[in-house]
Amino acid sequence: MKVAADNAETWTVRKVLGWTSQHFEKANVDAPRLTAELLLGHSLKVDRVTLYTQLDRPLNKDELGAYRALIQRRVGGEPTQYLTGQKEFYGRRFQVDARVLIPRPETELLVEAVLKLCAKDAPSRVLDLCTGSGCIAVTIACERPQASVWATDLLADACAVAKLNAEALGAGGRVTVLQGDLLAAVPQGPRFDVVVSNPPYVMAAELPTLQREVQREPRAALDGGADGLDLVRRIAEAAPPYLKAGGTLALEIGDGQGDAVRDILVRAGYHEVRIEKDLARHDRLAFGRAA
Ligand code: GLN
Repeated sequence: MKVAADNAETWTVRKVLGWTSQHFEKANVDAPRLTAELLLGHSLKVDRVTLYTQLDRPLNKDELGAYRALIQRRVGGEPTQYLTGQKEFYGRRFQVDARVLIPRPETELLVEAVLKLCAKDAPSRVLDLCTGSGCIAVTIACERPQASVWATDLLADACAVAKLNAEALGAGGRVTVLQGDLLAAVPQGPRFDVVVSNPPYVMAAELPTLQREVQREPRAALDGGADGLDLVRRIAEAAPPYLKAGGTLALEIGDGQGDAVRDILVRAGYHEVRIEKDLARHDRLAFGRAA
């Protein structure tokens, strides 16, 4: 009898995942099953695939307690990636927490475009502004072992995370992370082939309407001022003295900002200005070449 009663109470991986998926669904959490798997995997220190080889494994009291706490925080609006402390970006695992914006898949398009501008077999110089987690700078350094990459962020907290990621992904020696406002901390030196940035570009008035998970991300990483383009304008004006002749400014921008950004880049004297859309056909990337 006792055994049977215990069994009825046993929370196995299978049962826990089923229960949590439903709980998340009712609470309007995005991707309920995936989220349950990511958080359970994190609690049990195994990856998602391994969970499926352990569906009958019972959870002990401590494991259940830790997992329950994560469920509550997720339902309370904390992003999954802050709870697990990681986010995949361009095939690598970046460490993230509330100090930095969570890398988005759209930003992989920006990285891909920059990689095309950096030869594989020659040393290029790349500068990443508003680096946050360092996902752009570190990925470029990893994909182009000959490149020297510089990264800046206004916030010391973000610089700490970017440095952590550069070290953890084996690019510590080739990514120089500097704290400062845009280019302020970048010393005089050889010019760059590419200046790249995913700056904050959300219109200030839109911030309160963003998903509650996004509201947990650093406001400084999102708030682009009244029209969202404060930082785009400042970067466009400040970058040319740091770019080689023919070097490229490459920016991530927001949906609907293409025309305004084209205008900003043309007025700032860039050539071959072009706007590209992402897979959802939203304006997403802007490029200009320095004279
Ligand atoms: N892509 C982010 C969002 O949708 C904005 C990122 C940014 O401002 N650079 O909220």
